[in-house]
Amino acid sequence: MTAGATPAPGAELGDERKGDGPDIAVVGGGWSGIAAAWRLHCAGASVTLYDEQEELGGRSAGVPVGPRTLTAGGKNIGRKYANFRAFTDALGCGDFEFFGINSARSEGGKLRTIDSTRRFSSIFHLLRKLPARDVYRMLRLVRAIRSRRENSFCGGPDMVRIARKAGDPPLSEYFGRGIQEKLVRSLTVRMNGAEADEVHLECFGTHLGMVLDTFEQLSAGFDELFAGLAKQITVRSGTRVTGLTVDGGRVTGVVARERGGESVRTGHDAVVVALPGPAAAALLEPLSARLAAELGGISYFPAAVILAEYDRPVFGEQVRAVVQPADSPLSNAGAYGINDRHIIRYTFSGRAYRAAHREDDELLDLAEKQLAQHVDLDGINRVRAVTKRWEHAYVGYSRYHSSTIARIDQELKPFEALALTGDYLRGASIEACFRAAYERTDALLARLGTRSGGR
Ligand SMILES: Cc1cc2nc3c(=O)[nH]c(=O)nc-3n(C[C@H](O)[C@H](O)[C@H](O)COP(=O)(O)OP(=O)(O)OC[C@H]3O[C@@H](n4cnc5c(N)ncnc54)[C@H](O)[C@@H]3O)c2cc1C
Repeated sequence: MTAGATPAPGAELGDERKGDGPDIAVVGGGWSGIAAAWRLHCAGASVTLYDEQEELGGRSAGVPVGPRTLTAGGKNIGRKYANFRAFTDALGCGDFEFFGINSARSEGGKLRTIDSTRRFSSIFHLLRKLPARDVYRMLRLVRAIRSRRENSFCGGPDMVRIARKAGDPPLSEYFGRGIQEKLVRSLTVRMNGAEADEVHLECFGTHLGMVLDTFEQLSAGFDELFAGLAKQITVRSGTRVTGLTVDGGRVTGVVARERGGESVRTGHDAVVVALPGPAAAALLEPLSARLAAELGGISYFPAAVILAEYDRPVFGEQVRAVVQPADSPLSNAGAYGINDRHIIRYTFSGRAYRAAHREDDELLDLAEKQLAQHVDLDGINRVRAVTKRWEHAYVGYSRYHSSTIARIDQELKPFEALALTGDYLRGASIEACFRAAYERTDALLARLGTRSGGR
């Protein structure tokens, strides 16, 4: 049986098996798929990574901005991103530069900065004058995150316990208005492109874990990393997987449409689907409507990023980003890097962005006007700007998210040669994508009877 599109008659790909391990297809070449492919490769599998785009990276793929390739999506790497960093080291690309969390918001006309180098004084200032109940609740969660790293990821046991006891409310119900405005919303908008009423307590550890980390970025960007990986595994870019082939309940390969529209069918011992929830739901619908419904029920929020380059630095070293108020489609304007303060990333997300329906040039115009209220832009000229939009930019999880994941796993049980991974499992951060992918591929290899950890 073939689930999904029917291949063109006679279109078969050659046997690309290279090693003695199983031959495994990974669908999706964002961080989730890259991490899965790397883990499987390290365990001795022959890996083919399929991505419909020409470049690897998904939401972190490079965007040409003049002579440089920049990242519009995820690029900041925490010092606690252990799996991601081990991966960069293994490929000889582990050269990082400091970025930090540095963000200012306007308070009574003055800019108040949260900076990761002064984390505790920044947080103390934020929590001052807030109701004791909110301060207690926030500090209790922070303690859970600090005492157990696992709580920084979706499914963290203390976060699940605390959330369950409270009925896993949206953050807008769990916290009072003051702390929402001062702290919670800037985290949900930044990590989910969502408002505080659109994110539930159970996965809030992913946000707090980020605040308690220190951020850097790869000095040379991600392209060397993608190129290094592509030397080790087979990458089929420009190839959209349109269906999975299944024989007697066993997933046996993929059906894909290549550049030029030709449909091909490739046999594999197992398939890892490493796509965002909605894309995974569409691919898996013919296998299990219930599985697709669970995946489709996970919320995602849209966003746009404009990368604008100017002829001189826009920000100074002390204030490198300004968070915008909830009624603006612009959520954040920040320097691209500590050494790239002449390139601004304008991020548009949250409810006001979704309601705005503006063209790219209107968004840029609005962003520059808003930034000019905080930063002197006189005499600074824009050289170029590039816009990137995503319909499913950020995962926002679901209520009782660990139960959603348990139901997904239940639906997956009949398909032992199929694994899912993605940002919806352990969290939106790049490290959470690695963690989920490693867990899921290790379990797949165990089911296939192959030892992981290999090469
Ligand atoms: C603006 C923004 C800023 C962010 N900043 C950070 C940050 O600083 N630090 C951080 O840790 N995280 C950050 N994130 C989060 C992080 O970037 C994402 O969670 C992560 O990149 C998701 O990776 P993924 O592989 O799960 O999904 P994706 O990156 O979406 O990858 C999915 C891939 O699958 C491909 N695909 C889809 N359908 C098919 C198909 N049918 N066949 C073949 N291929 C297909 C797509 O082309 C894509 O390449 C940010 C996200 C955004 C949007």
